[in-house]
Amino acid sequence: MAVIDVVIAGGGPSGLALAALLLQSGISVRVLEARDSPGTHSRAIGLHPPALDVLDAAGVGEAAVAAGVRIRRGLGLADGKMIASMDFGALPGRHRYVLSLPQAHTVRLLGERVRDLDAGALLRGARLETFRQDDDGVRVAFTTASPAHGTAVAAERSRHTLRARFLVGADGVNSTVRTLLGEAFAGLSYRDEYIMGDYPDTTEFGSTAALILHREGIVESFPLPGGLRRWVAWRRPDEPVDLPGLVLRRTGHIADRGSASMLNRFRCSRRSVRRMAAGRVVLIGDAAHEVSPIGGQGMALGLMDAAALAPLLRHEFGAGGRGASAGGFTDFSADRLRAAARAGRQAHVNMMLGRPLPRATDAVRRRTVAGLASHPGLLDAVAHRFTMSHGFR
Ligand SMILES: Cc1cc2nc3c(=O)[nH]c(=O)nc-3n(C[C@H](O)[C@H](O)[C@H](O)COP(=O)(O)OP(=O)(O)OC[C@H]3O[C@@H](n4cnc5c(N)ncnc54)[C@H](O)[C@@H]3O)c2cc1C
Repeated sequence: MAVIDVVIAGGGPSGLALAALLLQSGISVRVLEARDSPGTHSRAIGLHPPALDVLDAAGVGEAAVAAGVRIRRGLGLADGKMIASMDFGALPGRHRYVLSLPQAHTVRLLGERVRDLDAGALLRGARLETFRQDDDGVRVAFTTASPAHGTAVAAERSRHTLRARFLVGADGVNSTVRTLLGEAFAGLSYRDEYIMGDYPDTTEFGSTAALILHREGIVESFPLPGGLRRWVAWRRPDEPVDLPGLVLRRTGHIADRGSASMLNRFRCSRRSVRRMAAGRVVLIGDAAHEVSPIGGQGMALGLMDAAALAPLLRHEFGAGGRGASAGGFTDFSADRLRAAARAGRQAHVNMMLGRPLPRATDAVRRRTVAGLASHPGLLDAVAHRFTMSHGFR
């Protein structure tokens, strides 16, 4: 059986970015992706500057920037008045903005890049079922749909095996690789619920992001490519699932309910493993750490995991074939879990800031935000944190 250098379970943003980075260095890769086709459902939209650096390194940065909307400014609003304004123009590096691009588009670009680098590297409809590791490598068992009796109906699945030097679990929050490793995924689940939807943009915000503080709960508004706007609103459990209604009541803006191209509800959790590497198996992205989507940092963390892991694996397969030291993987794990914990704390603050409050406390919150926002130094620091420009790599 031929031995593949790295098998990656999961063809989401984390797994595909890692695949592209490794293939570019001549390392052989197979990505097993359970879904038959790339989804169109959009979760993440925000690509922070360090995430864009990873897309650049993976060869898709330019295409992503060309397709997305550059958000150069974020506004805090309350009662129709601006109480804070954050400018991303002073950020360090090449990308002085957060790029808004639906996750499905980013995944499509990365998938095409992987296929360009090696037409056989991405196996769609291939689900990792189990694996066993020994001193030399990992034996990976996966299944693919097999049409029954010459029809296109997938009645039963065919079983396959691969031998790899390393297995990377990039298979999301419900990771099979993590479960098979026996790694606990501990943390907390929030009671907050949000509704999000994409609608034609009828606001005057243009390419600016707006966070609208309201005593009944925050409403967030982000530009999307194609003249669309994403609205996200905190929702009380007994409120109707009516995003346009919440947006109108809390902001005065119209999200035309008949024109929604996406509508979804979500709750938030903050969980992580205790270690991301065990022998020849490494976890990255949501498989290793989940942060609340409020703050939009999850995909960026996964892309940065991929960028941090790629040099370690390159070293493993480098000239002379000397292995990466176990210490390399231990440090990788500690660094990436620290970054995830930082993102988790930040998302926690974002969520607390957006919760409903009694009228009097809400007034204090607005005054406090406006007061803090009047200190340029502090606002700069917040802009750096908000865009993950320091302390997340
Ligand atoms: C509502 C919402 C909004 C968000 N907004 C943002 C944002 O603006 N910015 C941001 O950075 N993040 C955001 N996130 C987080 C972001 O979506 C995730 O962090 C990101 O998808 C993680 O990427 P991943 O590749 O690690 O995992 P996933 O995207 O979950 O990919 C895992 C892949 O593995 C595949 N898979 C699963 N099991 C198997 C198996 N056994 N075998 C083979 N394949 C398998 C799945 O089909 C999937 O394609 C948001 C999340 C939500 C829910």
